Amino acid sequence: MSLFKNQPLKIYNSITKTKELFVPVTEGSVGMYVCGPTVYSNVHLGNVRTFMSFDMVFRYLNHLEYKVRYVRNITDAGHMEDDADEGEDKIAKKARIEKIEPMEVVQRYTLDFHGILEKLNNLPPSIEPTATGHIIEQIEIIKDIVAKGLAYEINGSVYFDVLKYNETKEYGVLSGRKIEDAVHNTRLLDGQSEKKNPQDFALWKKASPQHIMRWSSPWGVGFPGWHLECTAMSTKYLGEKFDIHGGGMDLKFPHHECEIAQAEACNGQSPVNFWMHANMLTLNGQKMSKSTRNNILPGEIFSGENKVLSKPFSPSVVRFFMMQAHYRSILDFSSEALEASEKGYNKLVEALKTLESVQVSQTSSFVVQDWENDCYSAMNDDFNTPILIANLFEAVKHINLLKDGKATLTQIDLDLFTKTLHAFVYDVLGLVTETTEQSSDKLEGVVNMLINMRKQARDNKDWAMSDHIRDELKALGIQLKDNKEGTTFIVE
Ligand code: AMP
Ligand code: ZN
Repeated sequence: MSLFKNQPLKIYNSITKTKELFVPVTEGSVGMYVCGPTVYSNVHLGNVRTFMSFDMVFRYLNHLEYKVRYVRNITDAGHMEDDADEGEDKIAKKARIEKIEPMEVVQRYTLDFHGILEKLNNLPPSIEPTATGHIIEQIEIIKDIVAKGLAYEINGSVYFDVLKYNETKEYGVLSGRKIEDAVHNTRLLDGQSEKKNPQDFALWKKASPQHIMRWSSPWGVGFPGWHLECTAMSTKYLGEKFDIHGGGMDLKFPHHECEIAQAEACNGQSPVNFWMHANMLTLNGQKMSKSTRNNILPGEIFSGENKVLSKPFSPSVVRFFMMQAHYRSILDFSSEALEASEKGYNKLVEALKTLESVQVSQTSSFVVQDWENDCYSAMNDDFNTPILIANLFEAVKHINLLKDGKATLTQIDLDLFTKTLHAFVYDVLGLVTETTEQSSDKLEGVVNMLINMRKQARDNKDWAMSDHIRDELKALGIQLKDNKEGTTFIVE
């Protein structure tokens, strides 16, 4: 790990609430598991922030030359509406409302999720397993926990016995909840919960006759509890003890707490060395969330079609905006904040271009290694991207001085400077450097040219050509809108 430079990597561990030296289980390798989306609706910008935070972590660990196995699951069954154990399965509900198969719901929103993350230049994980693809593994874990006396069956459902577990282990180590407070807000169906204690959580739920997502098990036909899939898939692909487990802050309780209890019950040890939690994206100070409709879809930002936006913004600007905040800080979304990010981002892009034509000298007027070390120090201090970006703007200052002949660099230093800058901008932050304005200007020019060609075709009553232009643009995600003043377009 020659790239550690002067300071080793430290990661804030949510379970100890301190920054700790990162020492992987196996030298040179990292196993990282991040809870993926429940694919029952379009991924919103809040979800994207969490996934982008872990994409940055993945990118930096790769940059440090670790061999990273990054597992991020797809929840395609078992996630109940109220995040407790009652109510309807989110995917099954959507399928019922839309009168389609649950797997159609899953397919639609998995594709949306992949498409959005790709647009925002997130790298795909090494493995992307699904809950429904691991029913057998989940059943095996339940059998094991029942055999150890830490779960009980009742009416075809199986619950984890939290109070029993708490006699020998500690439930609540991650969230800091006391056992009496760690109640899963079970909606009391028919006024009566079948659990022994309100702290207990479902490992397996009996499927009602109308529940369409159902599998056979030793306890009858049912489906697995949401928390179980992550234990099954992380253990299968990363082992009983792995390096990093990530997710949004809101998953600490109950989801991650339950994962710890399940793994402790099965394997007798805590599953993870480092728990990492990304903070929330807010809108008007409120958590961005699907359920409260206080959310923005990434597509709306790219098209500018949302009343909170003054204009469209490119995926790289959105990415830059997110990276300007530390992953553990709350980030409030606004059009003004995006505009400010766009200005900063464009400055950085301009400087990178300028750097290409800088002349070399016999001496260097600043120490590139010091600047490089500052970049590594920032990232080695719990992935501090805002400090890294401040260092990138130090580089911008140097570049402008170089351009004006007020600073000098030798060939060796210029090479190091360029290489480091590129590594942090492209590889670590995952930015794609097109000047936003330039690229959108170019796009606008080309589309306007096609709009004019279509107008000519219509004037000549060449409807086939006119429709062809409109349809081809639509297939590329550009929608034409005819109105009194002429034709305008929207990039979807
Ligand atoms: P879900 O599909 O609801 O399971 O959420 C997927 C991921 O998005 C989880 O890691 C959540 O913690 C995260 N998440 C949800 N809302 C936000 C938000 N407003 N800001 C950041 N992350 C979020
Ligand atoms: Zn999970």
